[in-house]
Amino acid sequence: MTQTAELERYRLYIDGAEVSSDGGETFASTNPATGEPWARFEDAGAEDVDRAVAAAAAAFVPGSPWRSLSATRRGGLMFKLADLIREHAERIAAIEVRENGKLMREMHAQLGVAPDWLTYFGGLADKIEGRTIPLDRTSVLNYTQREPLGVVGVIVPWNSPTMLTMMAVAPALAAGNTVVIKPSEETSASILEIARLLEQAGFPPGVVNVVTGGRAAGEALVAHPRVAKISFTGGDAAGRAIASAVGARLGRVTLELGGKSANIVFDDAQLEAAEAGILAGIFAAGGQTCIAGSRALIHAPIYEELLERLRRRAESIVVGDPMDPATQMGPVATAAQLAKIEAHISSARADGARVVAGGARASVDGLSGGLFHQPTILADVANDSAVAQEEIFGPVLAVMRFEDEDEAVALANATPYGLAAGVWTLNVKRAHRVASRLEAGTVWVNLYRAVTFNSPFGGYKASGIGRVNGIEALDEFLQTKSVWIELDEAIQDPFVLKV
Ligand code: NAD
Repeated sequence: MTQTAELERYRLYIDGAEVSSDGGETFASTNPATGEPWARFEDAGAEDVDRAVAAAAAAFVPGSPWRSLSATRRGGLMFKLADLIREHAERIAAIEVRENGKLMREMHAQLGVAPDWLTYFGGLADKIEGRTIPLDRTSVLNYTQREPLGVVGVIVPWNSPTMLTMMAVAPALAAGNTVVIKPSEETSASILEIARLLEQAGFPPGVVNVVTGGRAAGEALVAHPRVAKISFTGGDAAGRAIASAVGARLGRVTLELGGKSANIVFDDAQLEAAEAGILAGIFAAGGQTCIAGSRALIHAPIYEELLERLRRRAESIVVGDPMDPATQMGPVATAAQLAKIEAHISSARADGARVVAGGARASVDGLSGGLFHQPTILADVANDSAVAQEEIFGPVLAVMRFEDEDEAVALANATPYGLAAGVWTLNVKRAHRVASRLEAGTVWVNLYRAVTFNSPFGGYKASGIGRVNGIEALDEFLQTKSVWIELDEAIQDPFVLKV
């Protein structure tokens, strides 16, 4: 067992300084590929969260260095931070792999694009404009101003730590807010590494703060009366609790939650493309992505053929060390996740599903403590069974058959979620028809798992509230003030009769 003294040590980042928690509690982060702890973090309590919020509130007061910056200069700081993250991308990506076990090539690619969120929204900072309203009362000038909300709390999960943090932090900062980030307890290190770059980028102290800890730290941030808005990315159970708590104090929320997204393959699809899209959708990140294509709905005439192709490919996926470039699927991030995957597979078996590929843990030479699971395909799944309705967040594909377009759309829509969907067809009329009927925030036709900074992303139904990415993500962090100015010298007094 690794000794505490050997573990890397990270502190809270509050008001521009690395500080210890008041209570002195700490927790360790474990590398899922080895099962060994590697770093130790402060376990923030309510007092630490209060200190971070106070720092963010002080940085937001009119006349503060942050509020005194022009919007153009504010964007400039974001450009500088983007450059610094690019410089450190490889190192930070390796830290993320140590924490969440995802493939180095995936985390490296994410660190490569995460700065694009800062440059895109940094570029929008000085394009936030109000309007002039042509009132009936022609002597009155009425205009609107778009203003920041204040302190924004950002709570993120472990699966794509830097990228998901940037999706919330970049528009929040571009709009002029200050921020307190609560990373996942599984993946705090990369966010603290980025915090270490803030001063060099020129951000005044207190504009961005990071408090590490578990659910209690998140709850303290959510409950804090000086936090104007919570931007939450995570599971729907936590999302519901957060929306209720923030709603009770009339705060604001953006929620990016889970999914049970379907890849729908029609018999007029290019099968090689559909096969590649389904595999990438569910196995590329070991299913540990909100947009995992965890259900495959296959048209009856091609059902057995495509299932056989998927089986062959799934069985050839190389499971192993996420740092090894030859590895195609890494470990599951936590022991609790592994147990959840196993429970779902046994309940699917009991519900009559056919295990076509995988179905068990995987062992990897030299990594006996690793949390590995085989890529798993379950066929003939009933859409109302748990494995088709609940987010598993692991490498488990539920496959079902449909007879026609109506049935495909009905099956795809018959879950509480509505994050994304894939449609595979070469029939252009069908492509548009089905895309418009799907209850999902993103529909990909003949591609899957594409997300970028300038295209709006978010959930329908239980998959979320609000949008990240694209111009409309800025609206989530702004409020509108309507200013009325009487220009006429004549005094308007309703109690003085005009003769
Ligand atoms: P989670 O909901 O357990 O935790 C997410 C974060 O919330 C963590 O930082 C956690 O400490 C904190 N938290 C948990 N309960 C809380 C509470 N009651 N109050 C305040 N904070 C609380 O999720 P996870 O297991 O870390 O991540 C996986 C989930 O995230 C999946 O459901 C996945 O679909 C979702 N996700 C969604 C998106 C999206 O953009 N829609 C992207 C990635 C992941």
